[in-house]
Amino acid sequence: MKKYAYHANYVHYNSKIHNNIYLLICGDTIEGMLDGDARVPDEYEIVRFENSAIFPGLINTHTHLPMSFFRGMADDLHLMDWLQNHIWPAEAKWISPEFVQAATDLSCVEMIKCGTTTANDMYFMSEHIAASLHKAGLKGTVGVGVLDFATKFGTCADDYISKASELYLKYQNDGLINIALCPHAPYTVSPDSYKKCVEFCSKHDLVLHTHLMEAKSESADSLAKYGKTPVQIMNDAGAFDIRSVFAHCVHLNDEEIELMGSKNVSVTHCVESNLKLANGFAPIGKMVSAGVNVTIGTDGAASNNDIDMIGEMRTVALTHKGFRCDATTFPAAKVLKMATENGAKALGLKDTGVLKKGHKADFIVVSFDSVMMTPVYHPVSHLIYSGNCNDVTDVYVNGKCLMKNRELTTIDEQAIKANAREWARKIVN
Ligand SMILES: [Zn+2]
Repeated sequence: MKKYAYHANYVHYNSKIHNNIYLLICGDTIEGMLDGDARVPDEYEIVRFENSAIFPGLINTHTHLPMSFFRGMADDLHLMDWLQNHIWPAEAKWISPEFVQAATDLSCVEMIKCGTTTANDMYFMSEHIAASLHKAGLKGTVGVGVLDFATKFGTCADDYISKASELYLKYQNDGLINIALCPHAPYTVSPDSYKKCVEFCSKHDLVLHTHLMEAKSESADSLAKYGKTPVQIMNDAGAFDIRSVFAHCVHLNDEEIELMGSKNVSVTHCVESNLKLANGFAPIGKMVSAGVNVTIGTDGAASNNDIDMIGEMRTVALTHKGFRCDATTFPAAKVLKMATENGAKALGLKDTGVLKKGHKADFIVVSFDSVMMTPVYHPVSHLIYSGNCNDVTDVYVNGKCLMKNRELTTIDEQAIKANAREWARKIVN
């Protein structure tokens, strides 16, 4: 097994910054760290990253990768107008296996270039998303979308769930891909169908990933339709008792936060999408205090308009300081933990999210060469408040290099971007 000793000025190891360190890797696994002045055993090949820091790969816990082809297509609109009058019609017209594969390829380029190594995706035609992630060498929890009505992707909840079943068998024990089930939201999926999804996920130990309380109107609408709030529906279906990831949760009341905290539920905070669609600020400070595992997601590129986790981390750190009038809330280290360790916990990835002995070698190299990164006092603060995706120089997943000095090694960035421009010419006409 090939062994490497990666040297950087700073290494975020065991959730702390260490100066002048070698990160030791054997195959796909981290073996440990070594002082930068120590003699490296002969069996290791030494790789040096000058004026750089090594961080864990970022984990985006809520996105829709194929929506990169709708980036910038419909901006400055309210959620339901955006969804019903723009996004859903465009999806009905354009989505095909070729579209999903090509658009996910574009998202894979963006993720690698922005230091994301794992994505928790929710969409349809998921086999093509899994294939694209696999080709790029990225990790994905690939969610199969479930709706209560027929679309070109399926006929009814049972049919969507059967698609997940097929894909689950295909990717069992895969080193990169896990399959999840994604009932879209309580306003498109009935309480009975949620129960079926929970049963399926429970039986196969899969992640259930759904939208919850993104818009303020969802609670009243659900009460009128089912006599229950969306949170009550989730609780009654057993969704808080399995490994579930709830995206958004902007409009929870204190009682709901207490309930979800007592069940150690994972909530994905998608601050930029919530800002852009004017859905409000999720009360993540209260959620963290109650015991909710809060993670970070970008949502799709059509409502963000990127899937850059470094930018997203900065927005989380800044907006909640302003929102709570408290400069000490959500400090940089806590936000980085949300985007790495908490994300891995939410997805049940026991060997990722933290760089430490025995974990998988999913790491990114961030250069401190740019003028905005000069000088350096606190590397984690630098990443959150001064850094941007262009500072990410190298990316590794399971010990395999996906980007070397800003050049992708597994997929062809120029060809993928050219293909995306070609699709956009068709979509606009
Ligand atoms: Zn979403």
